[in-house]
Amino acid sequence: MNSQRVGILGGGQLGRMMIEAASRLNLQVVILDKPVDSPAKQIEATQKHIEGEFKDPTKIEELASQVDVITIEIEHVNAEILASLEKKGSIIHPSPSTILTIQDKYAQKQHLASHGIPLAEYVEIPDRAALVAAGQKFGYPLMIKSKTMAYDGKGNYVAKSEADIDAAMKALSATPLYAEKWAPFVKELAVMVVRRANGEVRAYPVVETVHKNSICHLVIAPAQVDGVVAERAQKVAENAIKTFSGAGVFGVEMFMMEDGELLLNEIAPRPHNSGHYTIEACETSQYENHLRAVLDMPLGSTHMKVPASIMVNILGENSDMEECYKPCQEALSVDGATIHLYGKKECRAGRKMGHITVVGESMMQVQSRLKPILNAIEPGVE
Ligand code: ATP
Ligand code: MG
Ligand code: MG
Repeated sequence: MNSQRVGILGGGQLGRMMIEAASRLNLQVVILDKPVDSPAKQIEATQKHIEGEFKDPTKIEELASQVDVITIEIEHVNAEILASLEKKGSIIHPSPSTILTIQDKYAQKQHLASHGIPLAEYVEIPDRAALVAAGQKFGYPLMIKSKTMAYDGKGNYVAKSEADIDAAMKALSATPLYAEKWAPFVKELAVMVVRRANGEVRAYPVVETVHKNSICHLVIAPAQVDGVVAERAQKVAENAIKTFSGAGVFGVEMFMMEDGELLLNEIAPRPHNSGHYTIEACETSQYENHLRAVLDMPLGSTHMKVPASIMVNILGENSDMEECYKPCQEALSVDGATIHLYGKKECRAGRKMGHITVVGESMMQVQSRLKPILNAIEPGVE
């Protein structure tokens, strides 16, 4: 384990936090991404990283020739090249076929539906007529989604009535589409699941995710839900991840309906924003377990080691970096708070610049510790 080399496609904050975990295990990490000083590359100065697109076949081959295993921190990669490299003997986790299925959200839905995983009803949208028909079938509001390249709600369009259809088609013209029936959920839940190549899976606790403008704002761990629902959510997540091949950590997003019914929203085949809390709050972080899984090492415990935690994302408001970091300044005086900044050179509206995790002896204590931090993000709103 001491001398293993891991190659990561993507050099953002998820790669950065993977490197933090890797360094404790003496693992060497090589990053393929465009920026020379990407968040991940910045903190691993012992390696010569690769500068290029994580869709570029030549660059991916170059990475493969330098490492023992390739993994990803973003799913929008060139999965076809990964599949051909795998055929030639490269070890790639999660498996290229898993990445290929998950990176197309419609293909992902079809895969999950074929395995009996509960989902909101959905339909492919090849043209305008199909969208009109979907509106008639599912009613409004109607959720229209890009099949590919989606993140942070970019690629989604909520049509309030048939009158919105042309605007939706125009806004989402860059990618093929599908539509989903609106899910009037009471909470959004998420479960991280780590999977070894032999099929062993371990679920982390169920968390509640609170979104603002389709971007994750808070992650409350454990989710404050009925124990039976929590157990069911872990089962749904484990069952979903068992249907894929390869190793790694996966983020499973779910909707909790009023009657406790759970619908799986989508899966990310990598460490996930809803799992940042595991660094401070669980016995093994999602990042360490991801590395253990892709290197086929024994998995670590996924249990919480503190009674409660809440993670809050530090999102850009505009280009003002100082303003954006104000909550971090506040967190310096908060017991149980850990600040993670990602070293991004530019601040933009909605850009994930960092996060803060607050832990405590009870959810009430965590909530009260969090107050000054939330107040620094948005005065008066807690
Ligand atoms: P991510 O950054 O998590 O990858 P994404 O761009 O892939 O996001 P989704 O997770 O599909 O987008 O949707 C973003 C958010 O929109 C969800 O977290 C949820 O709040 C809302 N949403 C998605 N699908 C539905 C639906 N069918 N009904 C109601 N709300 C939905
Ligand atoms: Mg997504
Ligand atoms: Mg999502």
